[in-house]
Formats: sequence, structure tokens, C-alpha cells
Amino acid sequence: MSFRTPKGTDDIMPPESRLWRSVLRAWDILAERYGYAYVATPIFESTDLFARGMGETTEVVEKQMYNFLDKGGRRLTLRPEITAGVVRAYIQAGRWGEFKGAYSGPCFRYERPQEGRRRQFWQLGVEYLGTPDVEADLEVIELGYRYLLDCGLGDVVVHVNSIGDPPDRLAYHSVLSAWLEDRADQLSRDARRRIRTNPLRVLDSKADREVVAGAPVPVDHLGEAAAAHHDDLIEGLQERGIAYDEDPRLVRGLDYYNRTVFEYIPPSYRAAQNAVGGGGRYDGLSRLLGGPDVPGVGLALGLDRILSAVGSRPPARALDVFLVVADQDRRSLAQAFARRLRSAGVRCDLVAGRRSVKAQFRAANRRDAAAAVVIGSEWDAGLVTVKDLSSGDERTMPAGEVVPWVKGVPVGGGR
Ligand code: AMP
Repeated sequence: MSFRTPKGTDDIMPPESRLWRSVLRAWDILAERYGYAYVATPIFESTDLFARGMGETTEVVEKQMYNFLDKGGRRLTLRPEITAGVVRAYIQAGRWGEFKGAYSGPCFRYERPQEGRRRQFWQLGVEYLGTPDVEADLEVIELGYRYLLDCGLGDVVVHVNSIGDPPDRLAYHSVLSAWLEDRADQLSRDARRRIRTNPLRVLDSKADREVVAGAPVPVDHLGEAAAAHHDDLIEGLQERGIAYDEDPRLVRGLDYYNRTVFEYIPPSYRAAQNAVGGGGRYDGLSRLLGGPDVPGVGLALGLDRILSAVGSRPPARALDVFLVVADQDRRSLAQAFARRLRSAGVRCDLVAGRRSVKAQFRAANRRDAAAAVVIGSEWDAGLVTVKDLSSGDERTMPAGEVVPWVKGVPVGGGR
């Protein structure tokens, strides 16, 4: 019998795992620079948390959750997203002031697998709790935008919309339901069902795109406060030089949003699922989950989609240096030298056990090292021979110069 990954899941193996790691690290660093502190929450939570937080009638809750009973009879779910968990953690910690949290981790949705739509996928995100100010929306949008530019998605555009505050939404729902009701015979079955349960979702239904093209849109039904918030948002996007598009039909899949919703769309990414991330304001979520009345805004990006959109890049080298021990009596010297290099921040390795020089060079290439450093008789004079494994250039240098030499060598990104 042989085992394979479960359907819709992936192993992340080298060399792809190097780009994967570097993209994750870049997220941690950028989020920290914007003042977001790292948060980790459990991969499974109570089923009710997601049902309540995301909305019983959302596609994710209705069809895509991995629900299970544990041995104690608790109803649990593998998290389909991370926002609900972070807001739950914030409430549970009881420190109800302003809070800026960043996270990354796997999420699970039972989907029909295809590129960019996996059953296990990674999300990177931030949540900014405690302020209703539009500057928080702008900061979150800017952070995701800058990150995607840094990842190499130069043409990313932020699609933005406002779905208003709950009273605006109620009023708008009845206008929209009536409009949809009049055209029910032209709508898909799912859309017909949603007229009563969640009419907003019909707006971004791909199957009903033509029918809903002329439907009333939320931005035309905003209350005064939500309209002013939206105007300020647009002005702020312009001020910050963020490429954006107003998209009146963007509503996002989850129930908890109010006012601002947004998605990041790189036009060059042609897969069926073209948003690499999105988010919005969710002022009612904390209260909905039994917490204080605390506003919030956040975003989540999909790592798998970012990597597909970035496309193949020349992979960064796996190692800076591979030590080749030409003279076996110097193995322990070589190991000490490896420790020195590693302490200096050089990614360095060598084979275990005695092997021929040829076998060690083969290993250096197989392990994708940028350079080989040969430790032989010239060590006694304090010298080593270094070979650039891309160009084949070879030279002898003092052992003490290897670190600066490595740091000056273009060994690619990913460190
Ligand atoms: P959502 O809140 O559902 O829009 O998810 C936010 C981001 O997570 C999306 O823009 C995707 O990049 C990513 N994402 C959501 N579902 C999946 C999935 N099944 N497979 C891969 N990425 C996903």
C-alpha cells in the first residue's frame, strides 16, 4: 500500500518551499513594521464560533466546513479562516483596548480542488481591533498592498466597496430582494434560495452575473455616516498612491462585514479564483461572539494564490556554502569551521562521514549550494579554495575572508 496526500492538499517540498518560507518571513517582518504583534490560535475551534461569526447562510458554513465530534462529544471545526479565532482570543484575553494582531497558518475548506482552491491552504492576515477610524481601514489595505508589491505582484489593484452599516443593509436588502424576486425565473437555483436568506451574496454570484448586472448596489443605499466613511476611504487611497478600483458589486463571502470591503486582484493572475486576498471592516463581530462592542478591520491573503500569481522565479540557492574536505584528517577542523560560518549567518553544510572529493562536489551541487569551499593542505597556511558553483570560478583566499566573500556573492533572495 502507498499513501498519498489527501485530495486538495499539498506537500511543500524544496525547492518551492524556499520561496514559500521567504514569502512567509517577509509577511512577519512587514506586519511587525506596521506594529502588528504575532498571534497564534488553535487550528480547530468550536463549530458555533464559525457558524455565528461567518454566518449560517454563507457558502463556507453551509458547505465547506470540516466538522467533527471529539471523543468528549464537542462539536469542533477545522478553521476555515482565522479572523473569528483571533477575535475570540481577543475577547477571551479580556484586554479590550486597541489591538493589532498578525497571523499566518493553515485553513481548511471542503472545496472542489483546483489551482488556487485547495482543501488545506495558508492564510496570512492582520486584525486591527478597537477603532472605527477610516485610517485603520487604510492602514490595513496599505499593508496588504505593499506586501503584494514586495512579493512581485506589481500590477495588483485593490477593489473596494462599501456595504454600509447594518440599518443601511436592512433597507438595501429589501430593495434588492424585491428586485431579485421580480427576476427570480432568470436566476440560478442557489440565487433563488438566497433571495430570502442572503440576497447580498447573489450580487457576486458568477452564475448570475448577467442578470444582476443591473441590480441596485449597496453604495447607492448608504447612510450618512457610512457614506462619509467611504468617501474618506477613497480619498485616503488616492493620497497613499494605492492602485484601486471601485467595485459596486463586491460584497465578499462572509456575513460579518460592514462598511469597507476590499479584495486584491492582480490582473495578470488568470486562474479561476483571481483574488489573492481580501478583507473588510467588521464592527459587529466582537459583540456577535459574546464580547464587548469593539469595532475592527482586517485582511487575509492566500499564500497559495500569491505564489501562483508570482509564477516561477529563479529559486534562491538552498545553501551559501558547502564544505568539501579534501584531507580527511581535517574533518573536525572542517566541522569547527562550519560552526563558525553558521554563527556568522552563513547557510553552510557538509557531508556526514568520509566521502571522496568528487562525491562531496556532487553533494554540493545536489544540495544547491552557491559555492564550495575546499579544506585541504592549504588550511595550514590559513587558506581555503572557494569555487563559485554557478560560474565555476575558483580562487584561494584566507579562511577568514569566506564570510565577507559569501555576503558579497549574489546567492539570490530567500535568506
Ligand atoms: P476569503 O476570506 O474567503 O476571501 O479568503 C481570503 C483569501 O484566502 C482568498 O483571497 C484566497 O487567497 C485565500 N483562499 C480562500 N479559500 C482558499 C482555498 N480554498 N484555497 C486557497 N486559497 C484560498
